[in-house]
Amino acid sequence: MGGQTRRAFLQGAASTLAAAAAPKPQPALSPFPYGAVQLLDGPLKRQFDENHAFFLKLSEDRMLKIYRQRAGLAAPGEDMGGWYDDFCPGAHFGQYLSGLARFAAITRSEPTRAKVHRLVRGLAETMDPSGRFFVDHRYPGYAYDKLVIGLLDAHLWTGDPTALPALYAATRAARPHMADHALTAEEQQQRPHKDETYTWDETYTFAENLFLAWERTGDRMFFDMAKRYLLDRAFFDPLAEGQNVLPGLHAYSHVNALGSGMQGYMKLGDRKYLRAVTNAVDLIWKDQSFATGGWGPNETFVEPGKGQLGASLNDTHRHFETPCGAYAHLKVMRYLLALTGDARYGDSLERVLYNTVLGALPIREDGSSFYYSDYHASARKTYRQPIEESKYRWDHDARWPCCSGTLPQVVADYGISAYFRGVDGVYVNLCVPSKLTWSKGLLTQTTAYPDEDLVTMKLRLSSPAEFAVHLRIPGWAGKGTSVSINGRRERVEPQPGTFQALRRTWKTGDVVELDLDQPLRTEAVDAQTPDRVALLRGPQVLFAISDDQPVLRGNRPDPGIPLKGFADIPAGAPYQTYWRVVA
Ligand SMILES: [Zn+2]
Repeated sequence: MGGQTRRAFLQGAASTLAAAAAPKPQPALSPFPYGAVQLLDGPLKRQFDENHAFFLKLSEDRMLKIYRQRAGLAAPGEDMGGWYDDFCPGAHFGQYLSGLARFAAITRSEPTRAKVHRLVRGLAETMDPSGRFFVDHRYPGYAYDKLVIGLLDAHLWTGDPTALPALYAATRAARPHMADHALTAEEQQQRPHKDETYTWDETYTFAENLFLAWERTGDRMFFDMAKRYLLDRAFFDPLAEGQNVLPGLHAYSHVNALGSGMQGYMKLGDRKYLRAVTNAVDLIWKDQSFATGGWGPNETFVEPGKGQLGASLNDTHRHFETPCGAYAHLKVMRYLLALTGDARYGDSLERVLYNTVLGALPIREDGSSFYYSDYHASARKTYRQPIEESKYRWDHDARWPCCSGTLPQVVADYGISAYFRGVDGVYVNLCVPSKLTWSKGLLTQTTAYPDEDLVTMKLRLSSPAEFAVHLRIPGWAGKGTSVSINGRRERVEPQPGTFQALRRTWKTGDVVELDLDQPLRTEAVDAQTPDRVALLRGPQVLFAISDDQPVLRGNRPDPGIPLKGFADIPAGAPYQTYWRVVA
C-alpha cells in the first residue's frame, strides 16, 4: 500500500498541475454526501430498507464463489446461478458492493460497513496479476467498470483502506483482457471474437468511473485510461453537433455513457461533452420517452417520427429496462441539475423515479429480478420472464441480471437526489419524507406527496441564519400551487419549471409549506398515435388496474376503474398504462 500510495500521490500532484490549465466548469449546485440525507417513512424508504436488508443478508461466499472458482481458489458456499455464473460472471459484484457502501454511509450500519470490508478483502484475493478471473470472460470491461465504482465507494463511503490497493489489483488483472479504448458495435464486430455474444462489452461507459478513480487517487493512469474510453467519433462528436445518432443504439448503456460525457466535461473542461449530453437528453425527452419517463422499447432507441413508440405498445412487453435505465437516468439528471440549476432535470428525475423504479419488485433470494416495465395492453407486473424464442440460454434463466446490480445503487441514491446545496442555500428537489443535516442545521420534510398535495418542511438551526430555501416547482404545477412560511402565504406566485427562492433569516421552528396543485393531464404515446394516451396527475402516471383497455373521454377516466401509481400496483396484477381516447 505504501509504495502505491506514494506513487499515486506524486502522480496526483503532477496531474493536478496539468489539469489546472483547463477551464474548470463551475457547477451551480453540488450534491450532499450520502450520510447527509435520511429518508423517513414512506414508499422510498420502504424500498431502500428492503434492498439494504437483502444485500446485507446475501451470502458472501455465494457472491465471491465465481471469483474464487475462476481464480482457482477454494470456493465454498452455494452457486449464485443465472447470469452471475454463466452469461456475465460476477459482473454485478461491484454494484452490490457499491450499493452496500452507500447504504453503510447513509445508515451508519456497522454490520454493513464490516461486510463491505470483508467483501473487498475476499475480492482482492481473487485478483491475481495474470487476471485469471477475466480470461475468456464475455464482458471483462463491464465487470471491471462495476468493480471500479464498487471499490471507490468502499473507499470513500466506508473508509476501507484496502479498497484502493484492491482497485489497483483489479486494474492490473483486467487490462490485458479488455479493449483499451471505446468501441462502437461495428468496431467490436471487426475484432476477433468467439461468437457474437463476445462483442457486447460496453466500453463506451467506462470513462465515468475511471475519471472518478483519477479524482480519488490522483493517479494519472486512470485519467489517461478514462480519456480513451470517451466514444467521441461515433457518439459525442455528432451529438454535440446536434446530429441524432441515438436510433438503433442500446438504450441503457448509452444513457449510462452520458455520465461519461458529464465527467469528460467536468474533468477536461471541453464544452463539446456538455453540448452532446444536453442534446442527447433533449432528444430522449422529445422522441424516445413514454409518459412514465422510461425509454427504449426492446432496449433500443427508436427512429423518431415513425410512430414506433406507439407500435411498441402492441408488439412487445419490454418497454423500459427499469432498474438499469432509472439508475443511469437519475445519475445523468443529477449531473445536469447540479451543473445548471435547471429545474427541468429535477422534473425528469422525479418522473422516472415514481413511475418506474419505485415500482420495481424486490429481488428474490434466488436472484429473480424485476427488469422490464411493460406498457402492453396485457401487462402484468412480474419478474423478468424467460424469453422462450431466444437462442441464448441466459434468456431462459435470467436470475441475477444487470438490473439486480443497479437496483441497490439507485435506491441508495434516492436521498442524494432529494437535496442539493448552492452558494446561497439549500435546494429541495424531491418532495419526500426525509431529514437533511447540513452546516446550518436540520431540515425535516413530511408529506404524503404525490398522493396528497401538501409538503411541510421544518427547520432546526444552531443559530438564526440568512440563506435561501429553493423549492422546485414542477413544470406541470397548476395555478393553485402556493407557498407559505409560518402559516403566511407568500405573495410571489410560484413559477412552474423553476426553483422558487425563499430568502430570509431563518430560525429554529420556522415552517415552510408547499401546496402543489397536481392537475390531471394526458400525454399521447407519440405524435403518430394520438389516440393512445397516458393519464397523469402531478409526476405520476395513473395506471388503470384492469384487464380491459380503459377509455378516456376528454380527460375524464371511466368511473369505477381503480387508478394507482406504479409503486402501488401489486405483483401479478393486470394494469393499463395507455388509454384509448374516444370522442
Ligand atoms: Zn438491467
